[in-house]
Amino acid sequence: MRSDSEGPRVLMRRIRELMAEPLEAQARLDEIVRQIAQNMVSEVCSLYVLRADGVLELFATYGLNPRAVHLAQLQLGQGLVGTIAATARPLNLSDAQKHPAFTYLPETGEEPFQAFLGVPILRAGRTLGVLDVQNQEKRAYREEEIEALETVAMVVAEMIAAGSLEGLARPGVQLDLTRPVTFGGTGLSEGIGLGHVVLHEPRVVVTNLFNENAEAEVLRLGQALASLRASIEDMLGRGDIAAEGEHRAVLEAYRMFAHDRGWVRRLEEAVRNGLTAEAAVEKVQSDTRARMLHMTDPYIRERLHDFDDLANRLLRQLMGGAETVGAVQPQDAVIIARSMGAAELLDYRRDQIRGLVLEEGAPTSHVVIVARALGIPVVGQVKGVVSMAENNDAVIVDGDDGGVHLRPPSNIESVFAEKVRFRAKRQERFRALRDVPAVTKDGVAIDLMMNAGLLVDLPQLSESGAAGIGLFRTELQFMVASTLPKASDQERLYAAVLDAAGDKPVTFRTLDIGGDKILPYLRHSPEENPALGYRALRLALDRPGLMRTQLRALLKAAGGRELRVMLPMVTELSELRRARDLIDRERDHLERFGHKQPASLKLGAMIEVPSLLFQLDELMQLVDFVSVGSNDLFQFFSAADRGNSQLAGRFDDLSPPFLKALKSIVDAGERNGVGVTLCGEMAGRPLSAMALIALGFRSISMTPAAIGPLKAMLVELDVGALADWMNQIFAKPDGAGSMRMKLIEFAEAHGVPH
Ligand code: PEP
Ligand code: MG
Repeated sequence: MRSDSEGPRVLMRRIRELMAEPLEAQARLDEIVRQIAQNMVSEVCSLYVLRADGVLELFATYGLNPRAVHLAQLQLGQGLVGTIAATARPLNLSDAQKHPAFTYLPETGEEPFQAFLGVPILRAGRTLGVLDVQNQEKRAYREEEIEALETVAMVVAEMIAAGSLEGLARPGVQLDLTRPVTFGGTGLSEGIGLGHVVLHEPRVVVTNLFNENAEAEVLRLGQALASLRASIEDMLGRGDIAAEGEHRAVLEAYRMFAHDRGWVRRLEEAVRNGLTAEAAVEKVQSDTRARMLHMTDPYIRERLHDFDDLANRLLRQLMGGAETVGAVQPQDAVIIARSMGAAELLDYRRDQIRGLVLEEGAPTSHVVIVARALGIPVVGQVKGVVSMAENNDAVIVDGDDGGVHLRPPSNIESVFAEKVRFRAKRQERFRALRDVPAVTKDGVAIDLMMNAGLLVDLPQLSESGAAGIGLFRTELQFMVASTLPKASDQERLYAAVLDAAGDKPVTFRTLDIGGDKILPYLRHSPEENPALGYRALRLALDRPGLMRTQLRALLKAAGGRELRVMLPMVTELSELRRARDLIDRERDHLERFGHKQPASLKLGAMIEVPSLLFQLDELMQLVDFVSVGSNDLFQFFSAADRGNSQLAGRFDDLSPPFLKALKSIVDAGERNGVGVTLCGEMAGRPLSAMALIALGFRSISMTPAAIGPLKAMLVELDVGALADWMNQIFAKPDGAGSMRMKLIEFAEAHGVPH
């Protein structure tokens, strides 16, 4: 007579032998359920698989009517089996008929039974089916039996994931694992990408499920856990991590999990039941995931990420040079990640990335800024996509409307393929305009400049046909780095930009950090109103070390060439004087040390704070040029946070008051002989750009992708006619009406693409 704890081990041995036998899939399943029933001394054992249509289909049974196989069906959430699938939790009932979800399926010929034990079939936290046993007599199933059933469920999950059960489903019926899924997220970088999934955090594939010797395996698990704990202590003890902050909190969470007795006990139990240490880690990880996924508390979900990371570390410990999926990047990769750093994106082969999908991600996250610069469509805030996706699944990313279509059916695929063709044709038309001079129909030349911030932007300078870089956001280099860029790194970047630009002008904006541009490695205190807070020039003037290092790097990089420097968020004129002092001191320093000076230096101010609108002439006496930062200027002008999605589009930057403010800047520029340009998002929208040009702007700077569409507008525009027309509207007493609508009318009447 065997002891209680031997049962599960005997079962695993049998299952293992079964997996090695050359059996057809159905025969193997039939044998699995028979072995389970026998081992657990149950009258019934049944296996249900979740189909793409949300139905649980009976795939194998021992004890129920065999003719019900592939016919008996349960909806997700229906009956005990449906409840297990819906909640991803086991049910252990000594008197099943008392359970509120109990239902009787007559087609199974099922005898009234009392005891019931069912477990979900899980993979990466996702439910793929249910495995259950039933006994006519009342009985309580023991913990080891639940464990054993869960362990067999894991083996079945692998069979499902490997596609072995595909052929068993009725023709036309798909299993849930291959179900098309559409997610709604937030479009963060426009464009459409069709391709195949590459999971950024590769899933470790455990191929070796059964151990040869449970005790030796428990020992191996213990050793791996010990070195995992040691490595966490090591990281915590290392001096280079900040004493506080996110990083430490995560490591503390790792430490907590690594010592969690419940976790270790469950791992050991799974190994004693016959699994290898790595399969045990995967099993327990999947169970925990399934449980935590059903919780809505954001704190717990955050801890789930930490727990996942820890389990993955342990898996890698156990498997050494583990086989990971996703090492090979397909030609048309759509990268799917929970979150990701900008540098990690740059590790992929750029020409083979078709899209990026993030479970987190915001418009200002660094990786998104870089992806946008690279022209990669991005959708963020796509909850749950990582666990639903498998490497190499077909996927469509729609950065325009925030959709992600995983394993799309062919009709969806063809709709998007058509969209991509349409966009490509449009791009082709824009490319054809690249070398056409940016001159309006009535002969007015306009400088179409581009905004940039990273080395990866530079090829766009020639590809887009931009006249130069109107705004180089120097803070991006700081944002994508994990530590403060050294003076030499800054100088190298600026020199590379000037080299790439050749004869084309480049305007470098000094660091615009603070507000929504936070550098993790710079201490800053939380602010109630960050946009109105301690940012940009305000911060730079208080930290001359930072500002002077940057100015020196700029001056050195521009030795012998023209240097254009622009200051962000100027609020009062004294700030300009202080900044000029700093520049002069740096120039003296370079002089003293015999460095080559720039051939000329032009200093400009961004007009972003409304206070400057009332001292334009005085401002222009102090600078060589101004550039309107319309994103910030409009947010302050209309007292509407530019990052607040509830206010997006509520106030119109094409309204007469704002346009009049812009016009006053152009007029002051003309009066004072000072160049005026505009570098906010307005510049890149054809309709707004049309209005800006009519107001008198002759230089505007925008994202490179906008240059083609803008030139298409420009060559059809009669500026004189539009300016007259706008002046008439401004003069009318009801001139405060919708200027946008009137501009659209003008564009349509004159055949100007907008
Ligand atoms: C602006 O404010 O319009 C601008 C160009 O600067 P940023 O978007 O970087 O704040
Ligand atoms: Mg700004």
